[in-house]
Amino acid sequence: MIDIVIFGAPGAGKGTQAKLLAEKYDFLHISTGDLLRQEVELGTPMGQRAQAIMNRGDLVGDDIVVPLLDRALQKRSTAPNPDSLIDPWDRERHGAPHRPEGSIIDGFPRTVSQAQTLEFMFRKLQRRIDLVVAIDVPRDELVRRIHERAAISGRADDTEEVIRHRLDLYDEQTKPVLDYYRVSGLLMTVDGSEQIADTNYRIGLAIEARMK
Ligand code: ADP
Repeated sequence: MIDIVIFGAPGAGKGTQAKLLAEKYDFLHISTGDLLRQEVELGTPMGQRAQAIMNRGDLVGDDIVVPLLDRALQKRSTAPNPDSLIDPWDRERHGAPHRPEGSIIDGFPRTVSQAQTLEFMFRKLQRRIDLVVAIDVPRDELVRRIHERAAISGRADDTEEVIRHRLDLYDEQTKPVLDYYRVSGLLMTVDGSEQIADTNYRIGLAIEARMK
């Protein structure tokens, strides 16, 4: 069982990498951006409050994000133990809930205060973060990628002005989280400026080293 935080600026490829890793290692993928977008789509009170903030590229308040993350983490902790003698296919056929091998959190923490909250949440669940993978990509490349994504994503926060604002917020509020994890010895930085598969390979090596 391993709990990983995947970290990076908007456009660094956190979501893409988290999805690939979740499939490869059978991890539960928890993306706070996806959780928020889901609430917006469902039109829940939380979603209604979050929508305008997200469209501006600002950070949604902890009073909204933290309960969403908490709910997702609880789900992972309360899943029943699998019978390791039954292969996953059989388990699904017999209707037993599947328990993932670990979790990968993407989009949280985005501030030092969120990092402290996450630690507290994990402690409550008698778990701890095992590894923080930071995907490092130069700003020019981030801007290029977000523009490219904007053409297909239809995301309201992928416009020129909002993109710049999101990157500035990342520099001001999110980057300091790196130091927080560096000090605790959990941080592993990976070059994310190459192809998706290259980055994925590098992160895989880090995860496997930590899983041993
Ligand atoms: P990106 O990494 O490209 O910004 P995400 O899907 O991670 O995309 O996040 C989209 C938006 O959702 C953010 O700009 C922010 O408004 C909101 N959001 C996601 N995670 C958090 C968080 N941990 N705290 C506050 N707001 C968040």
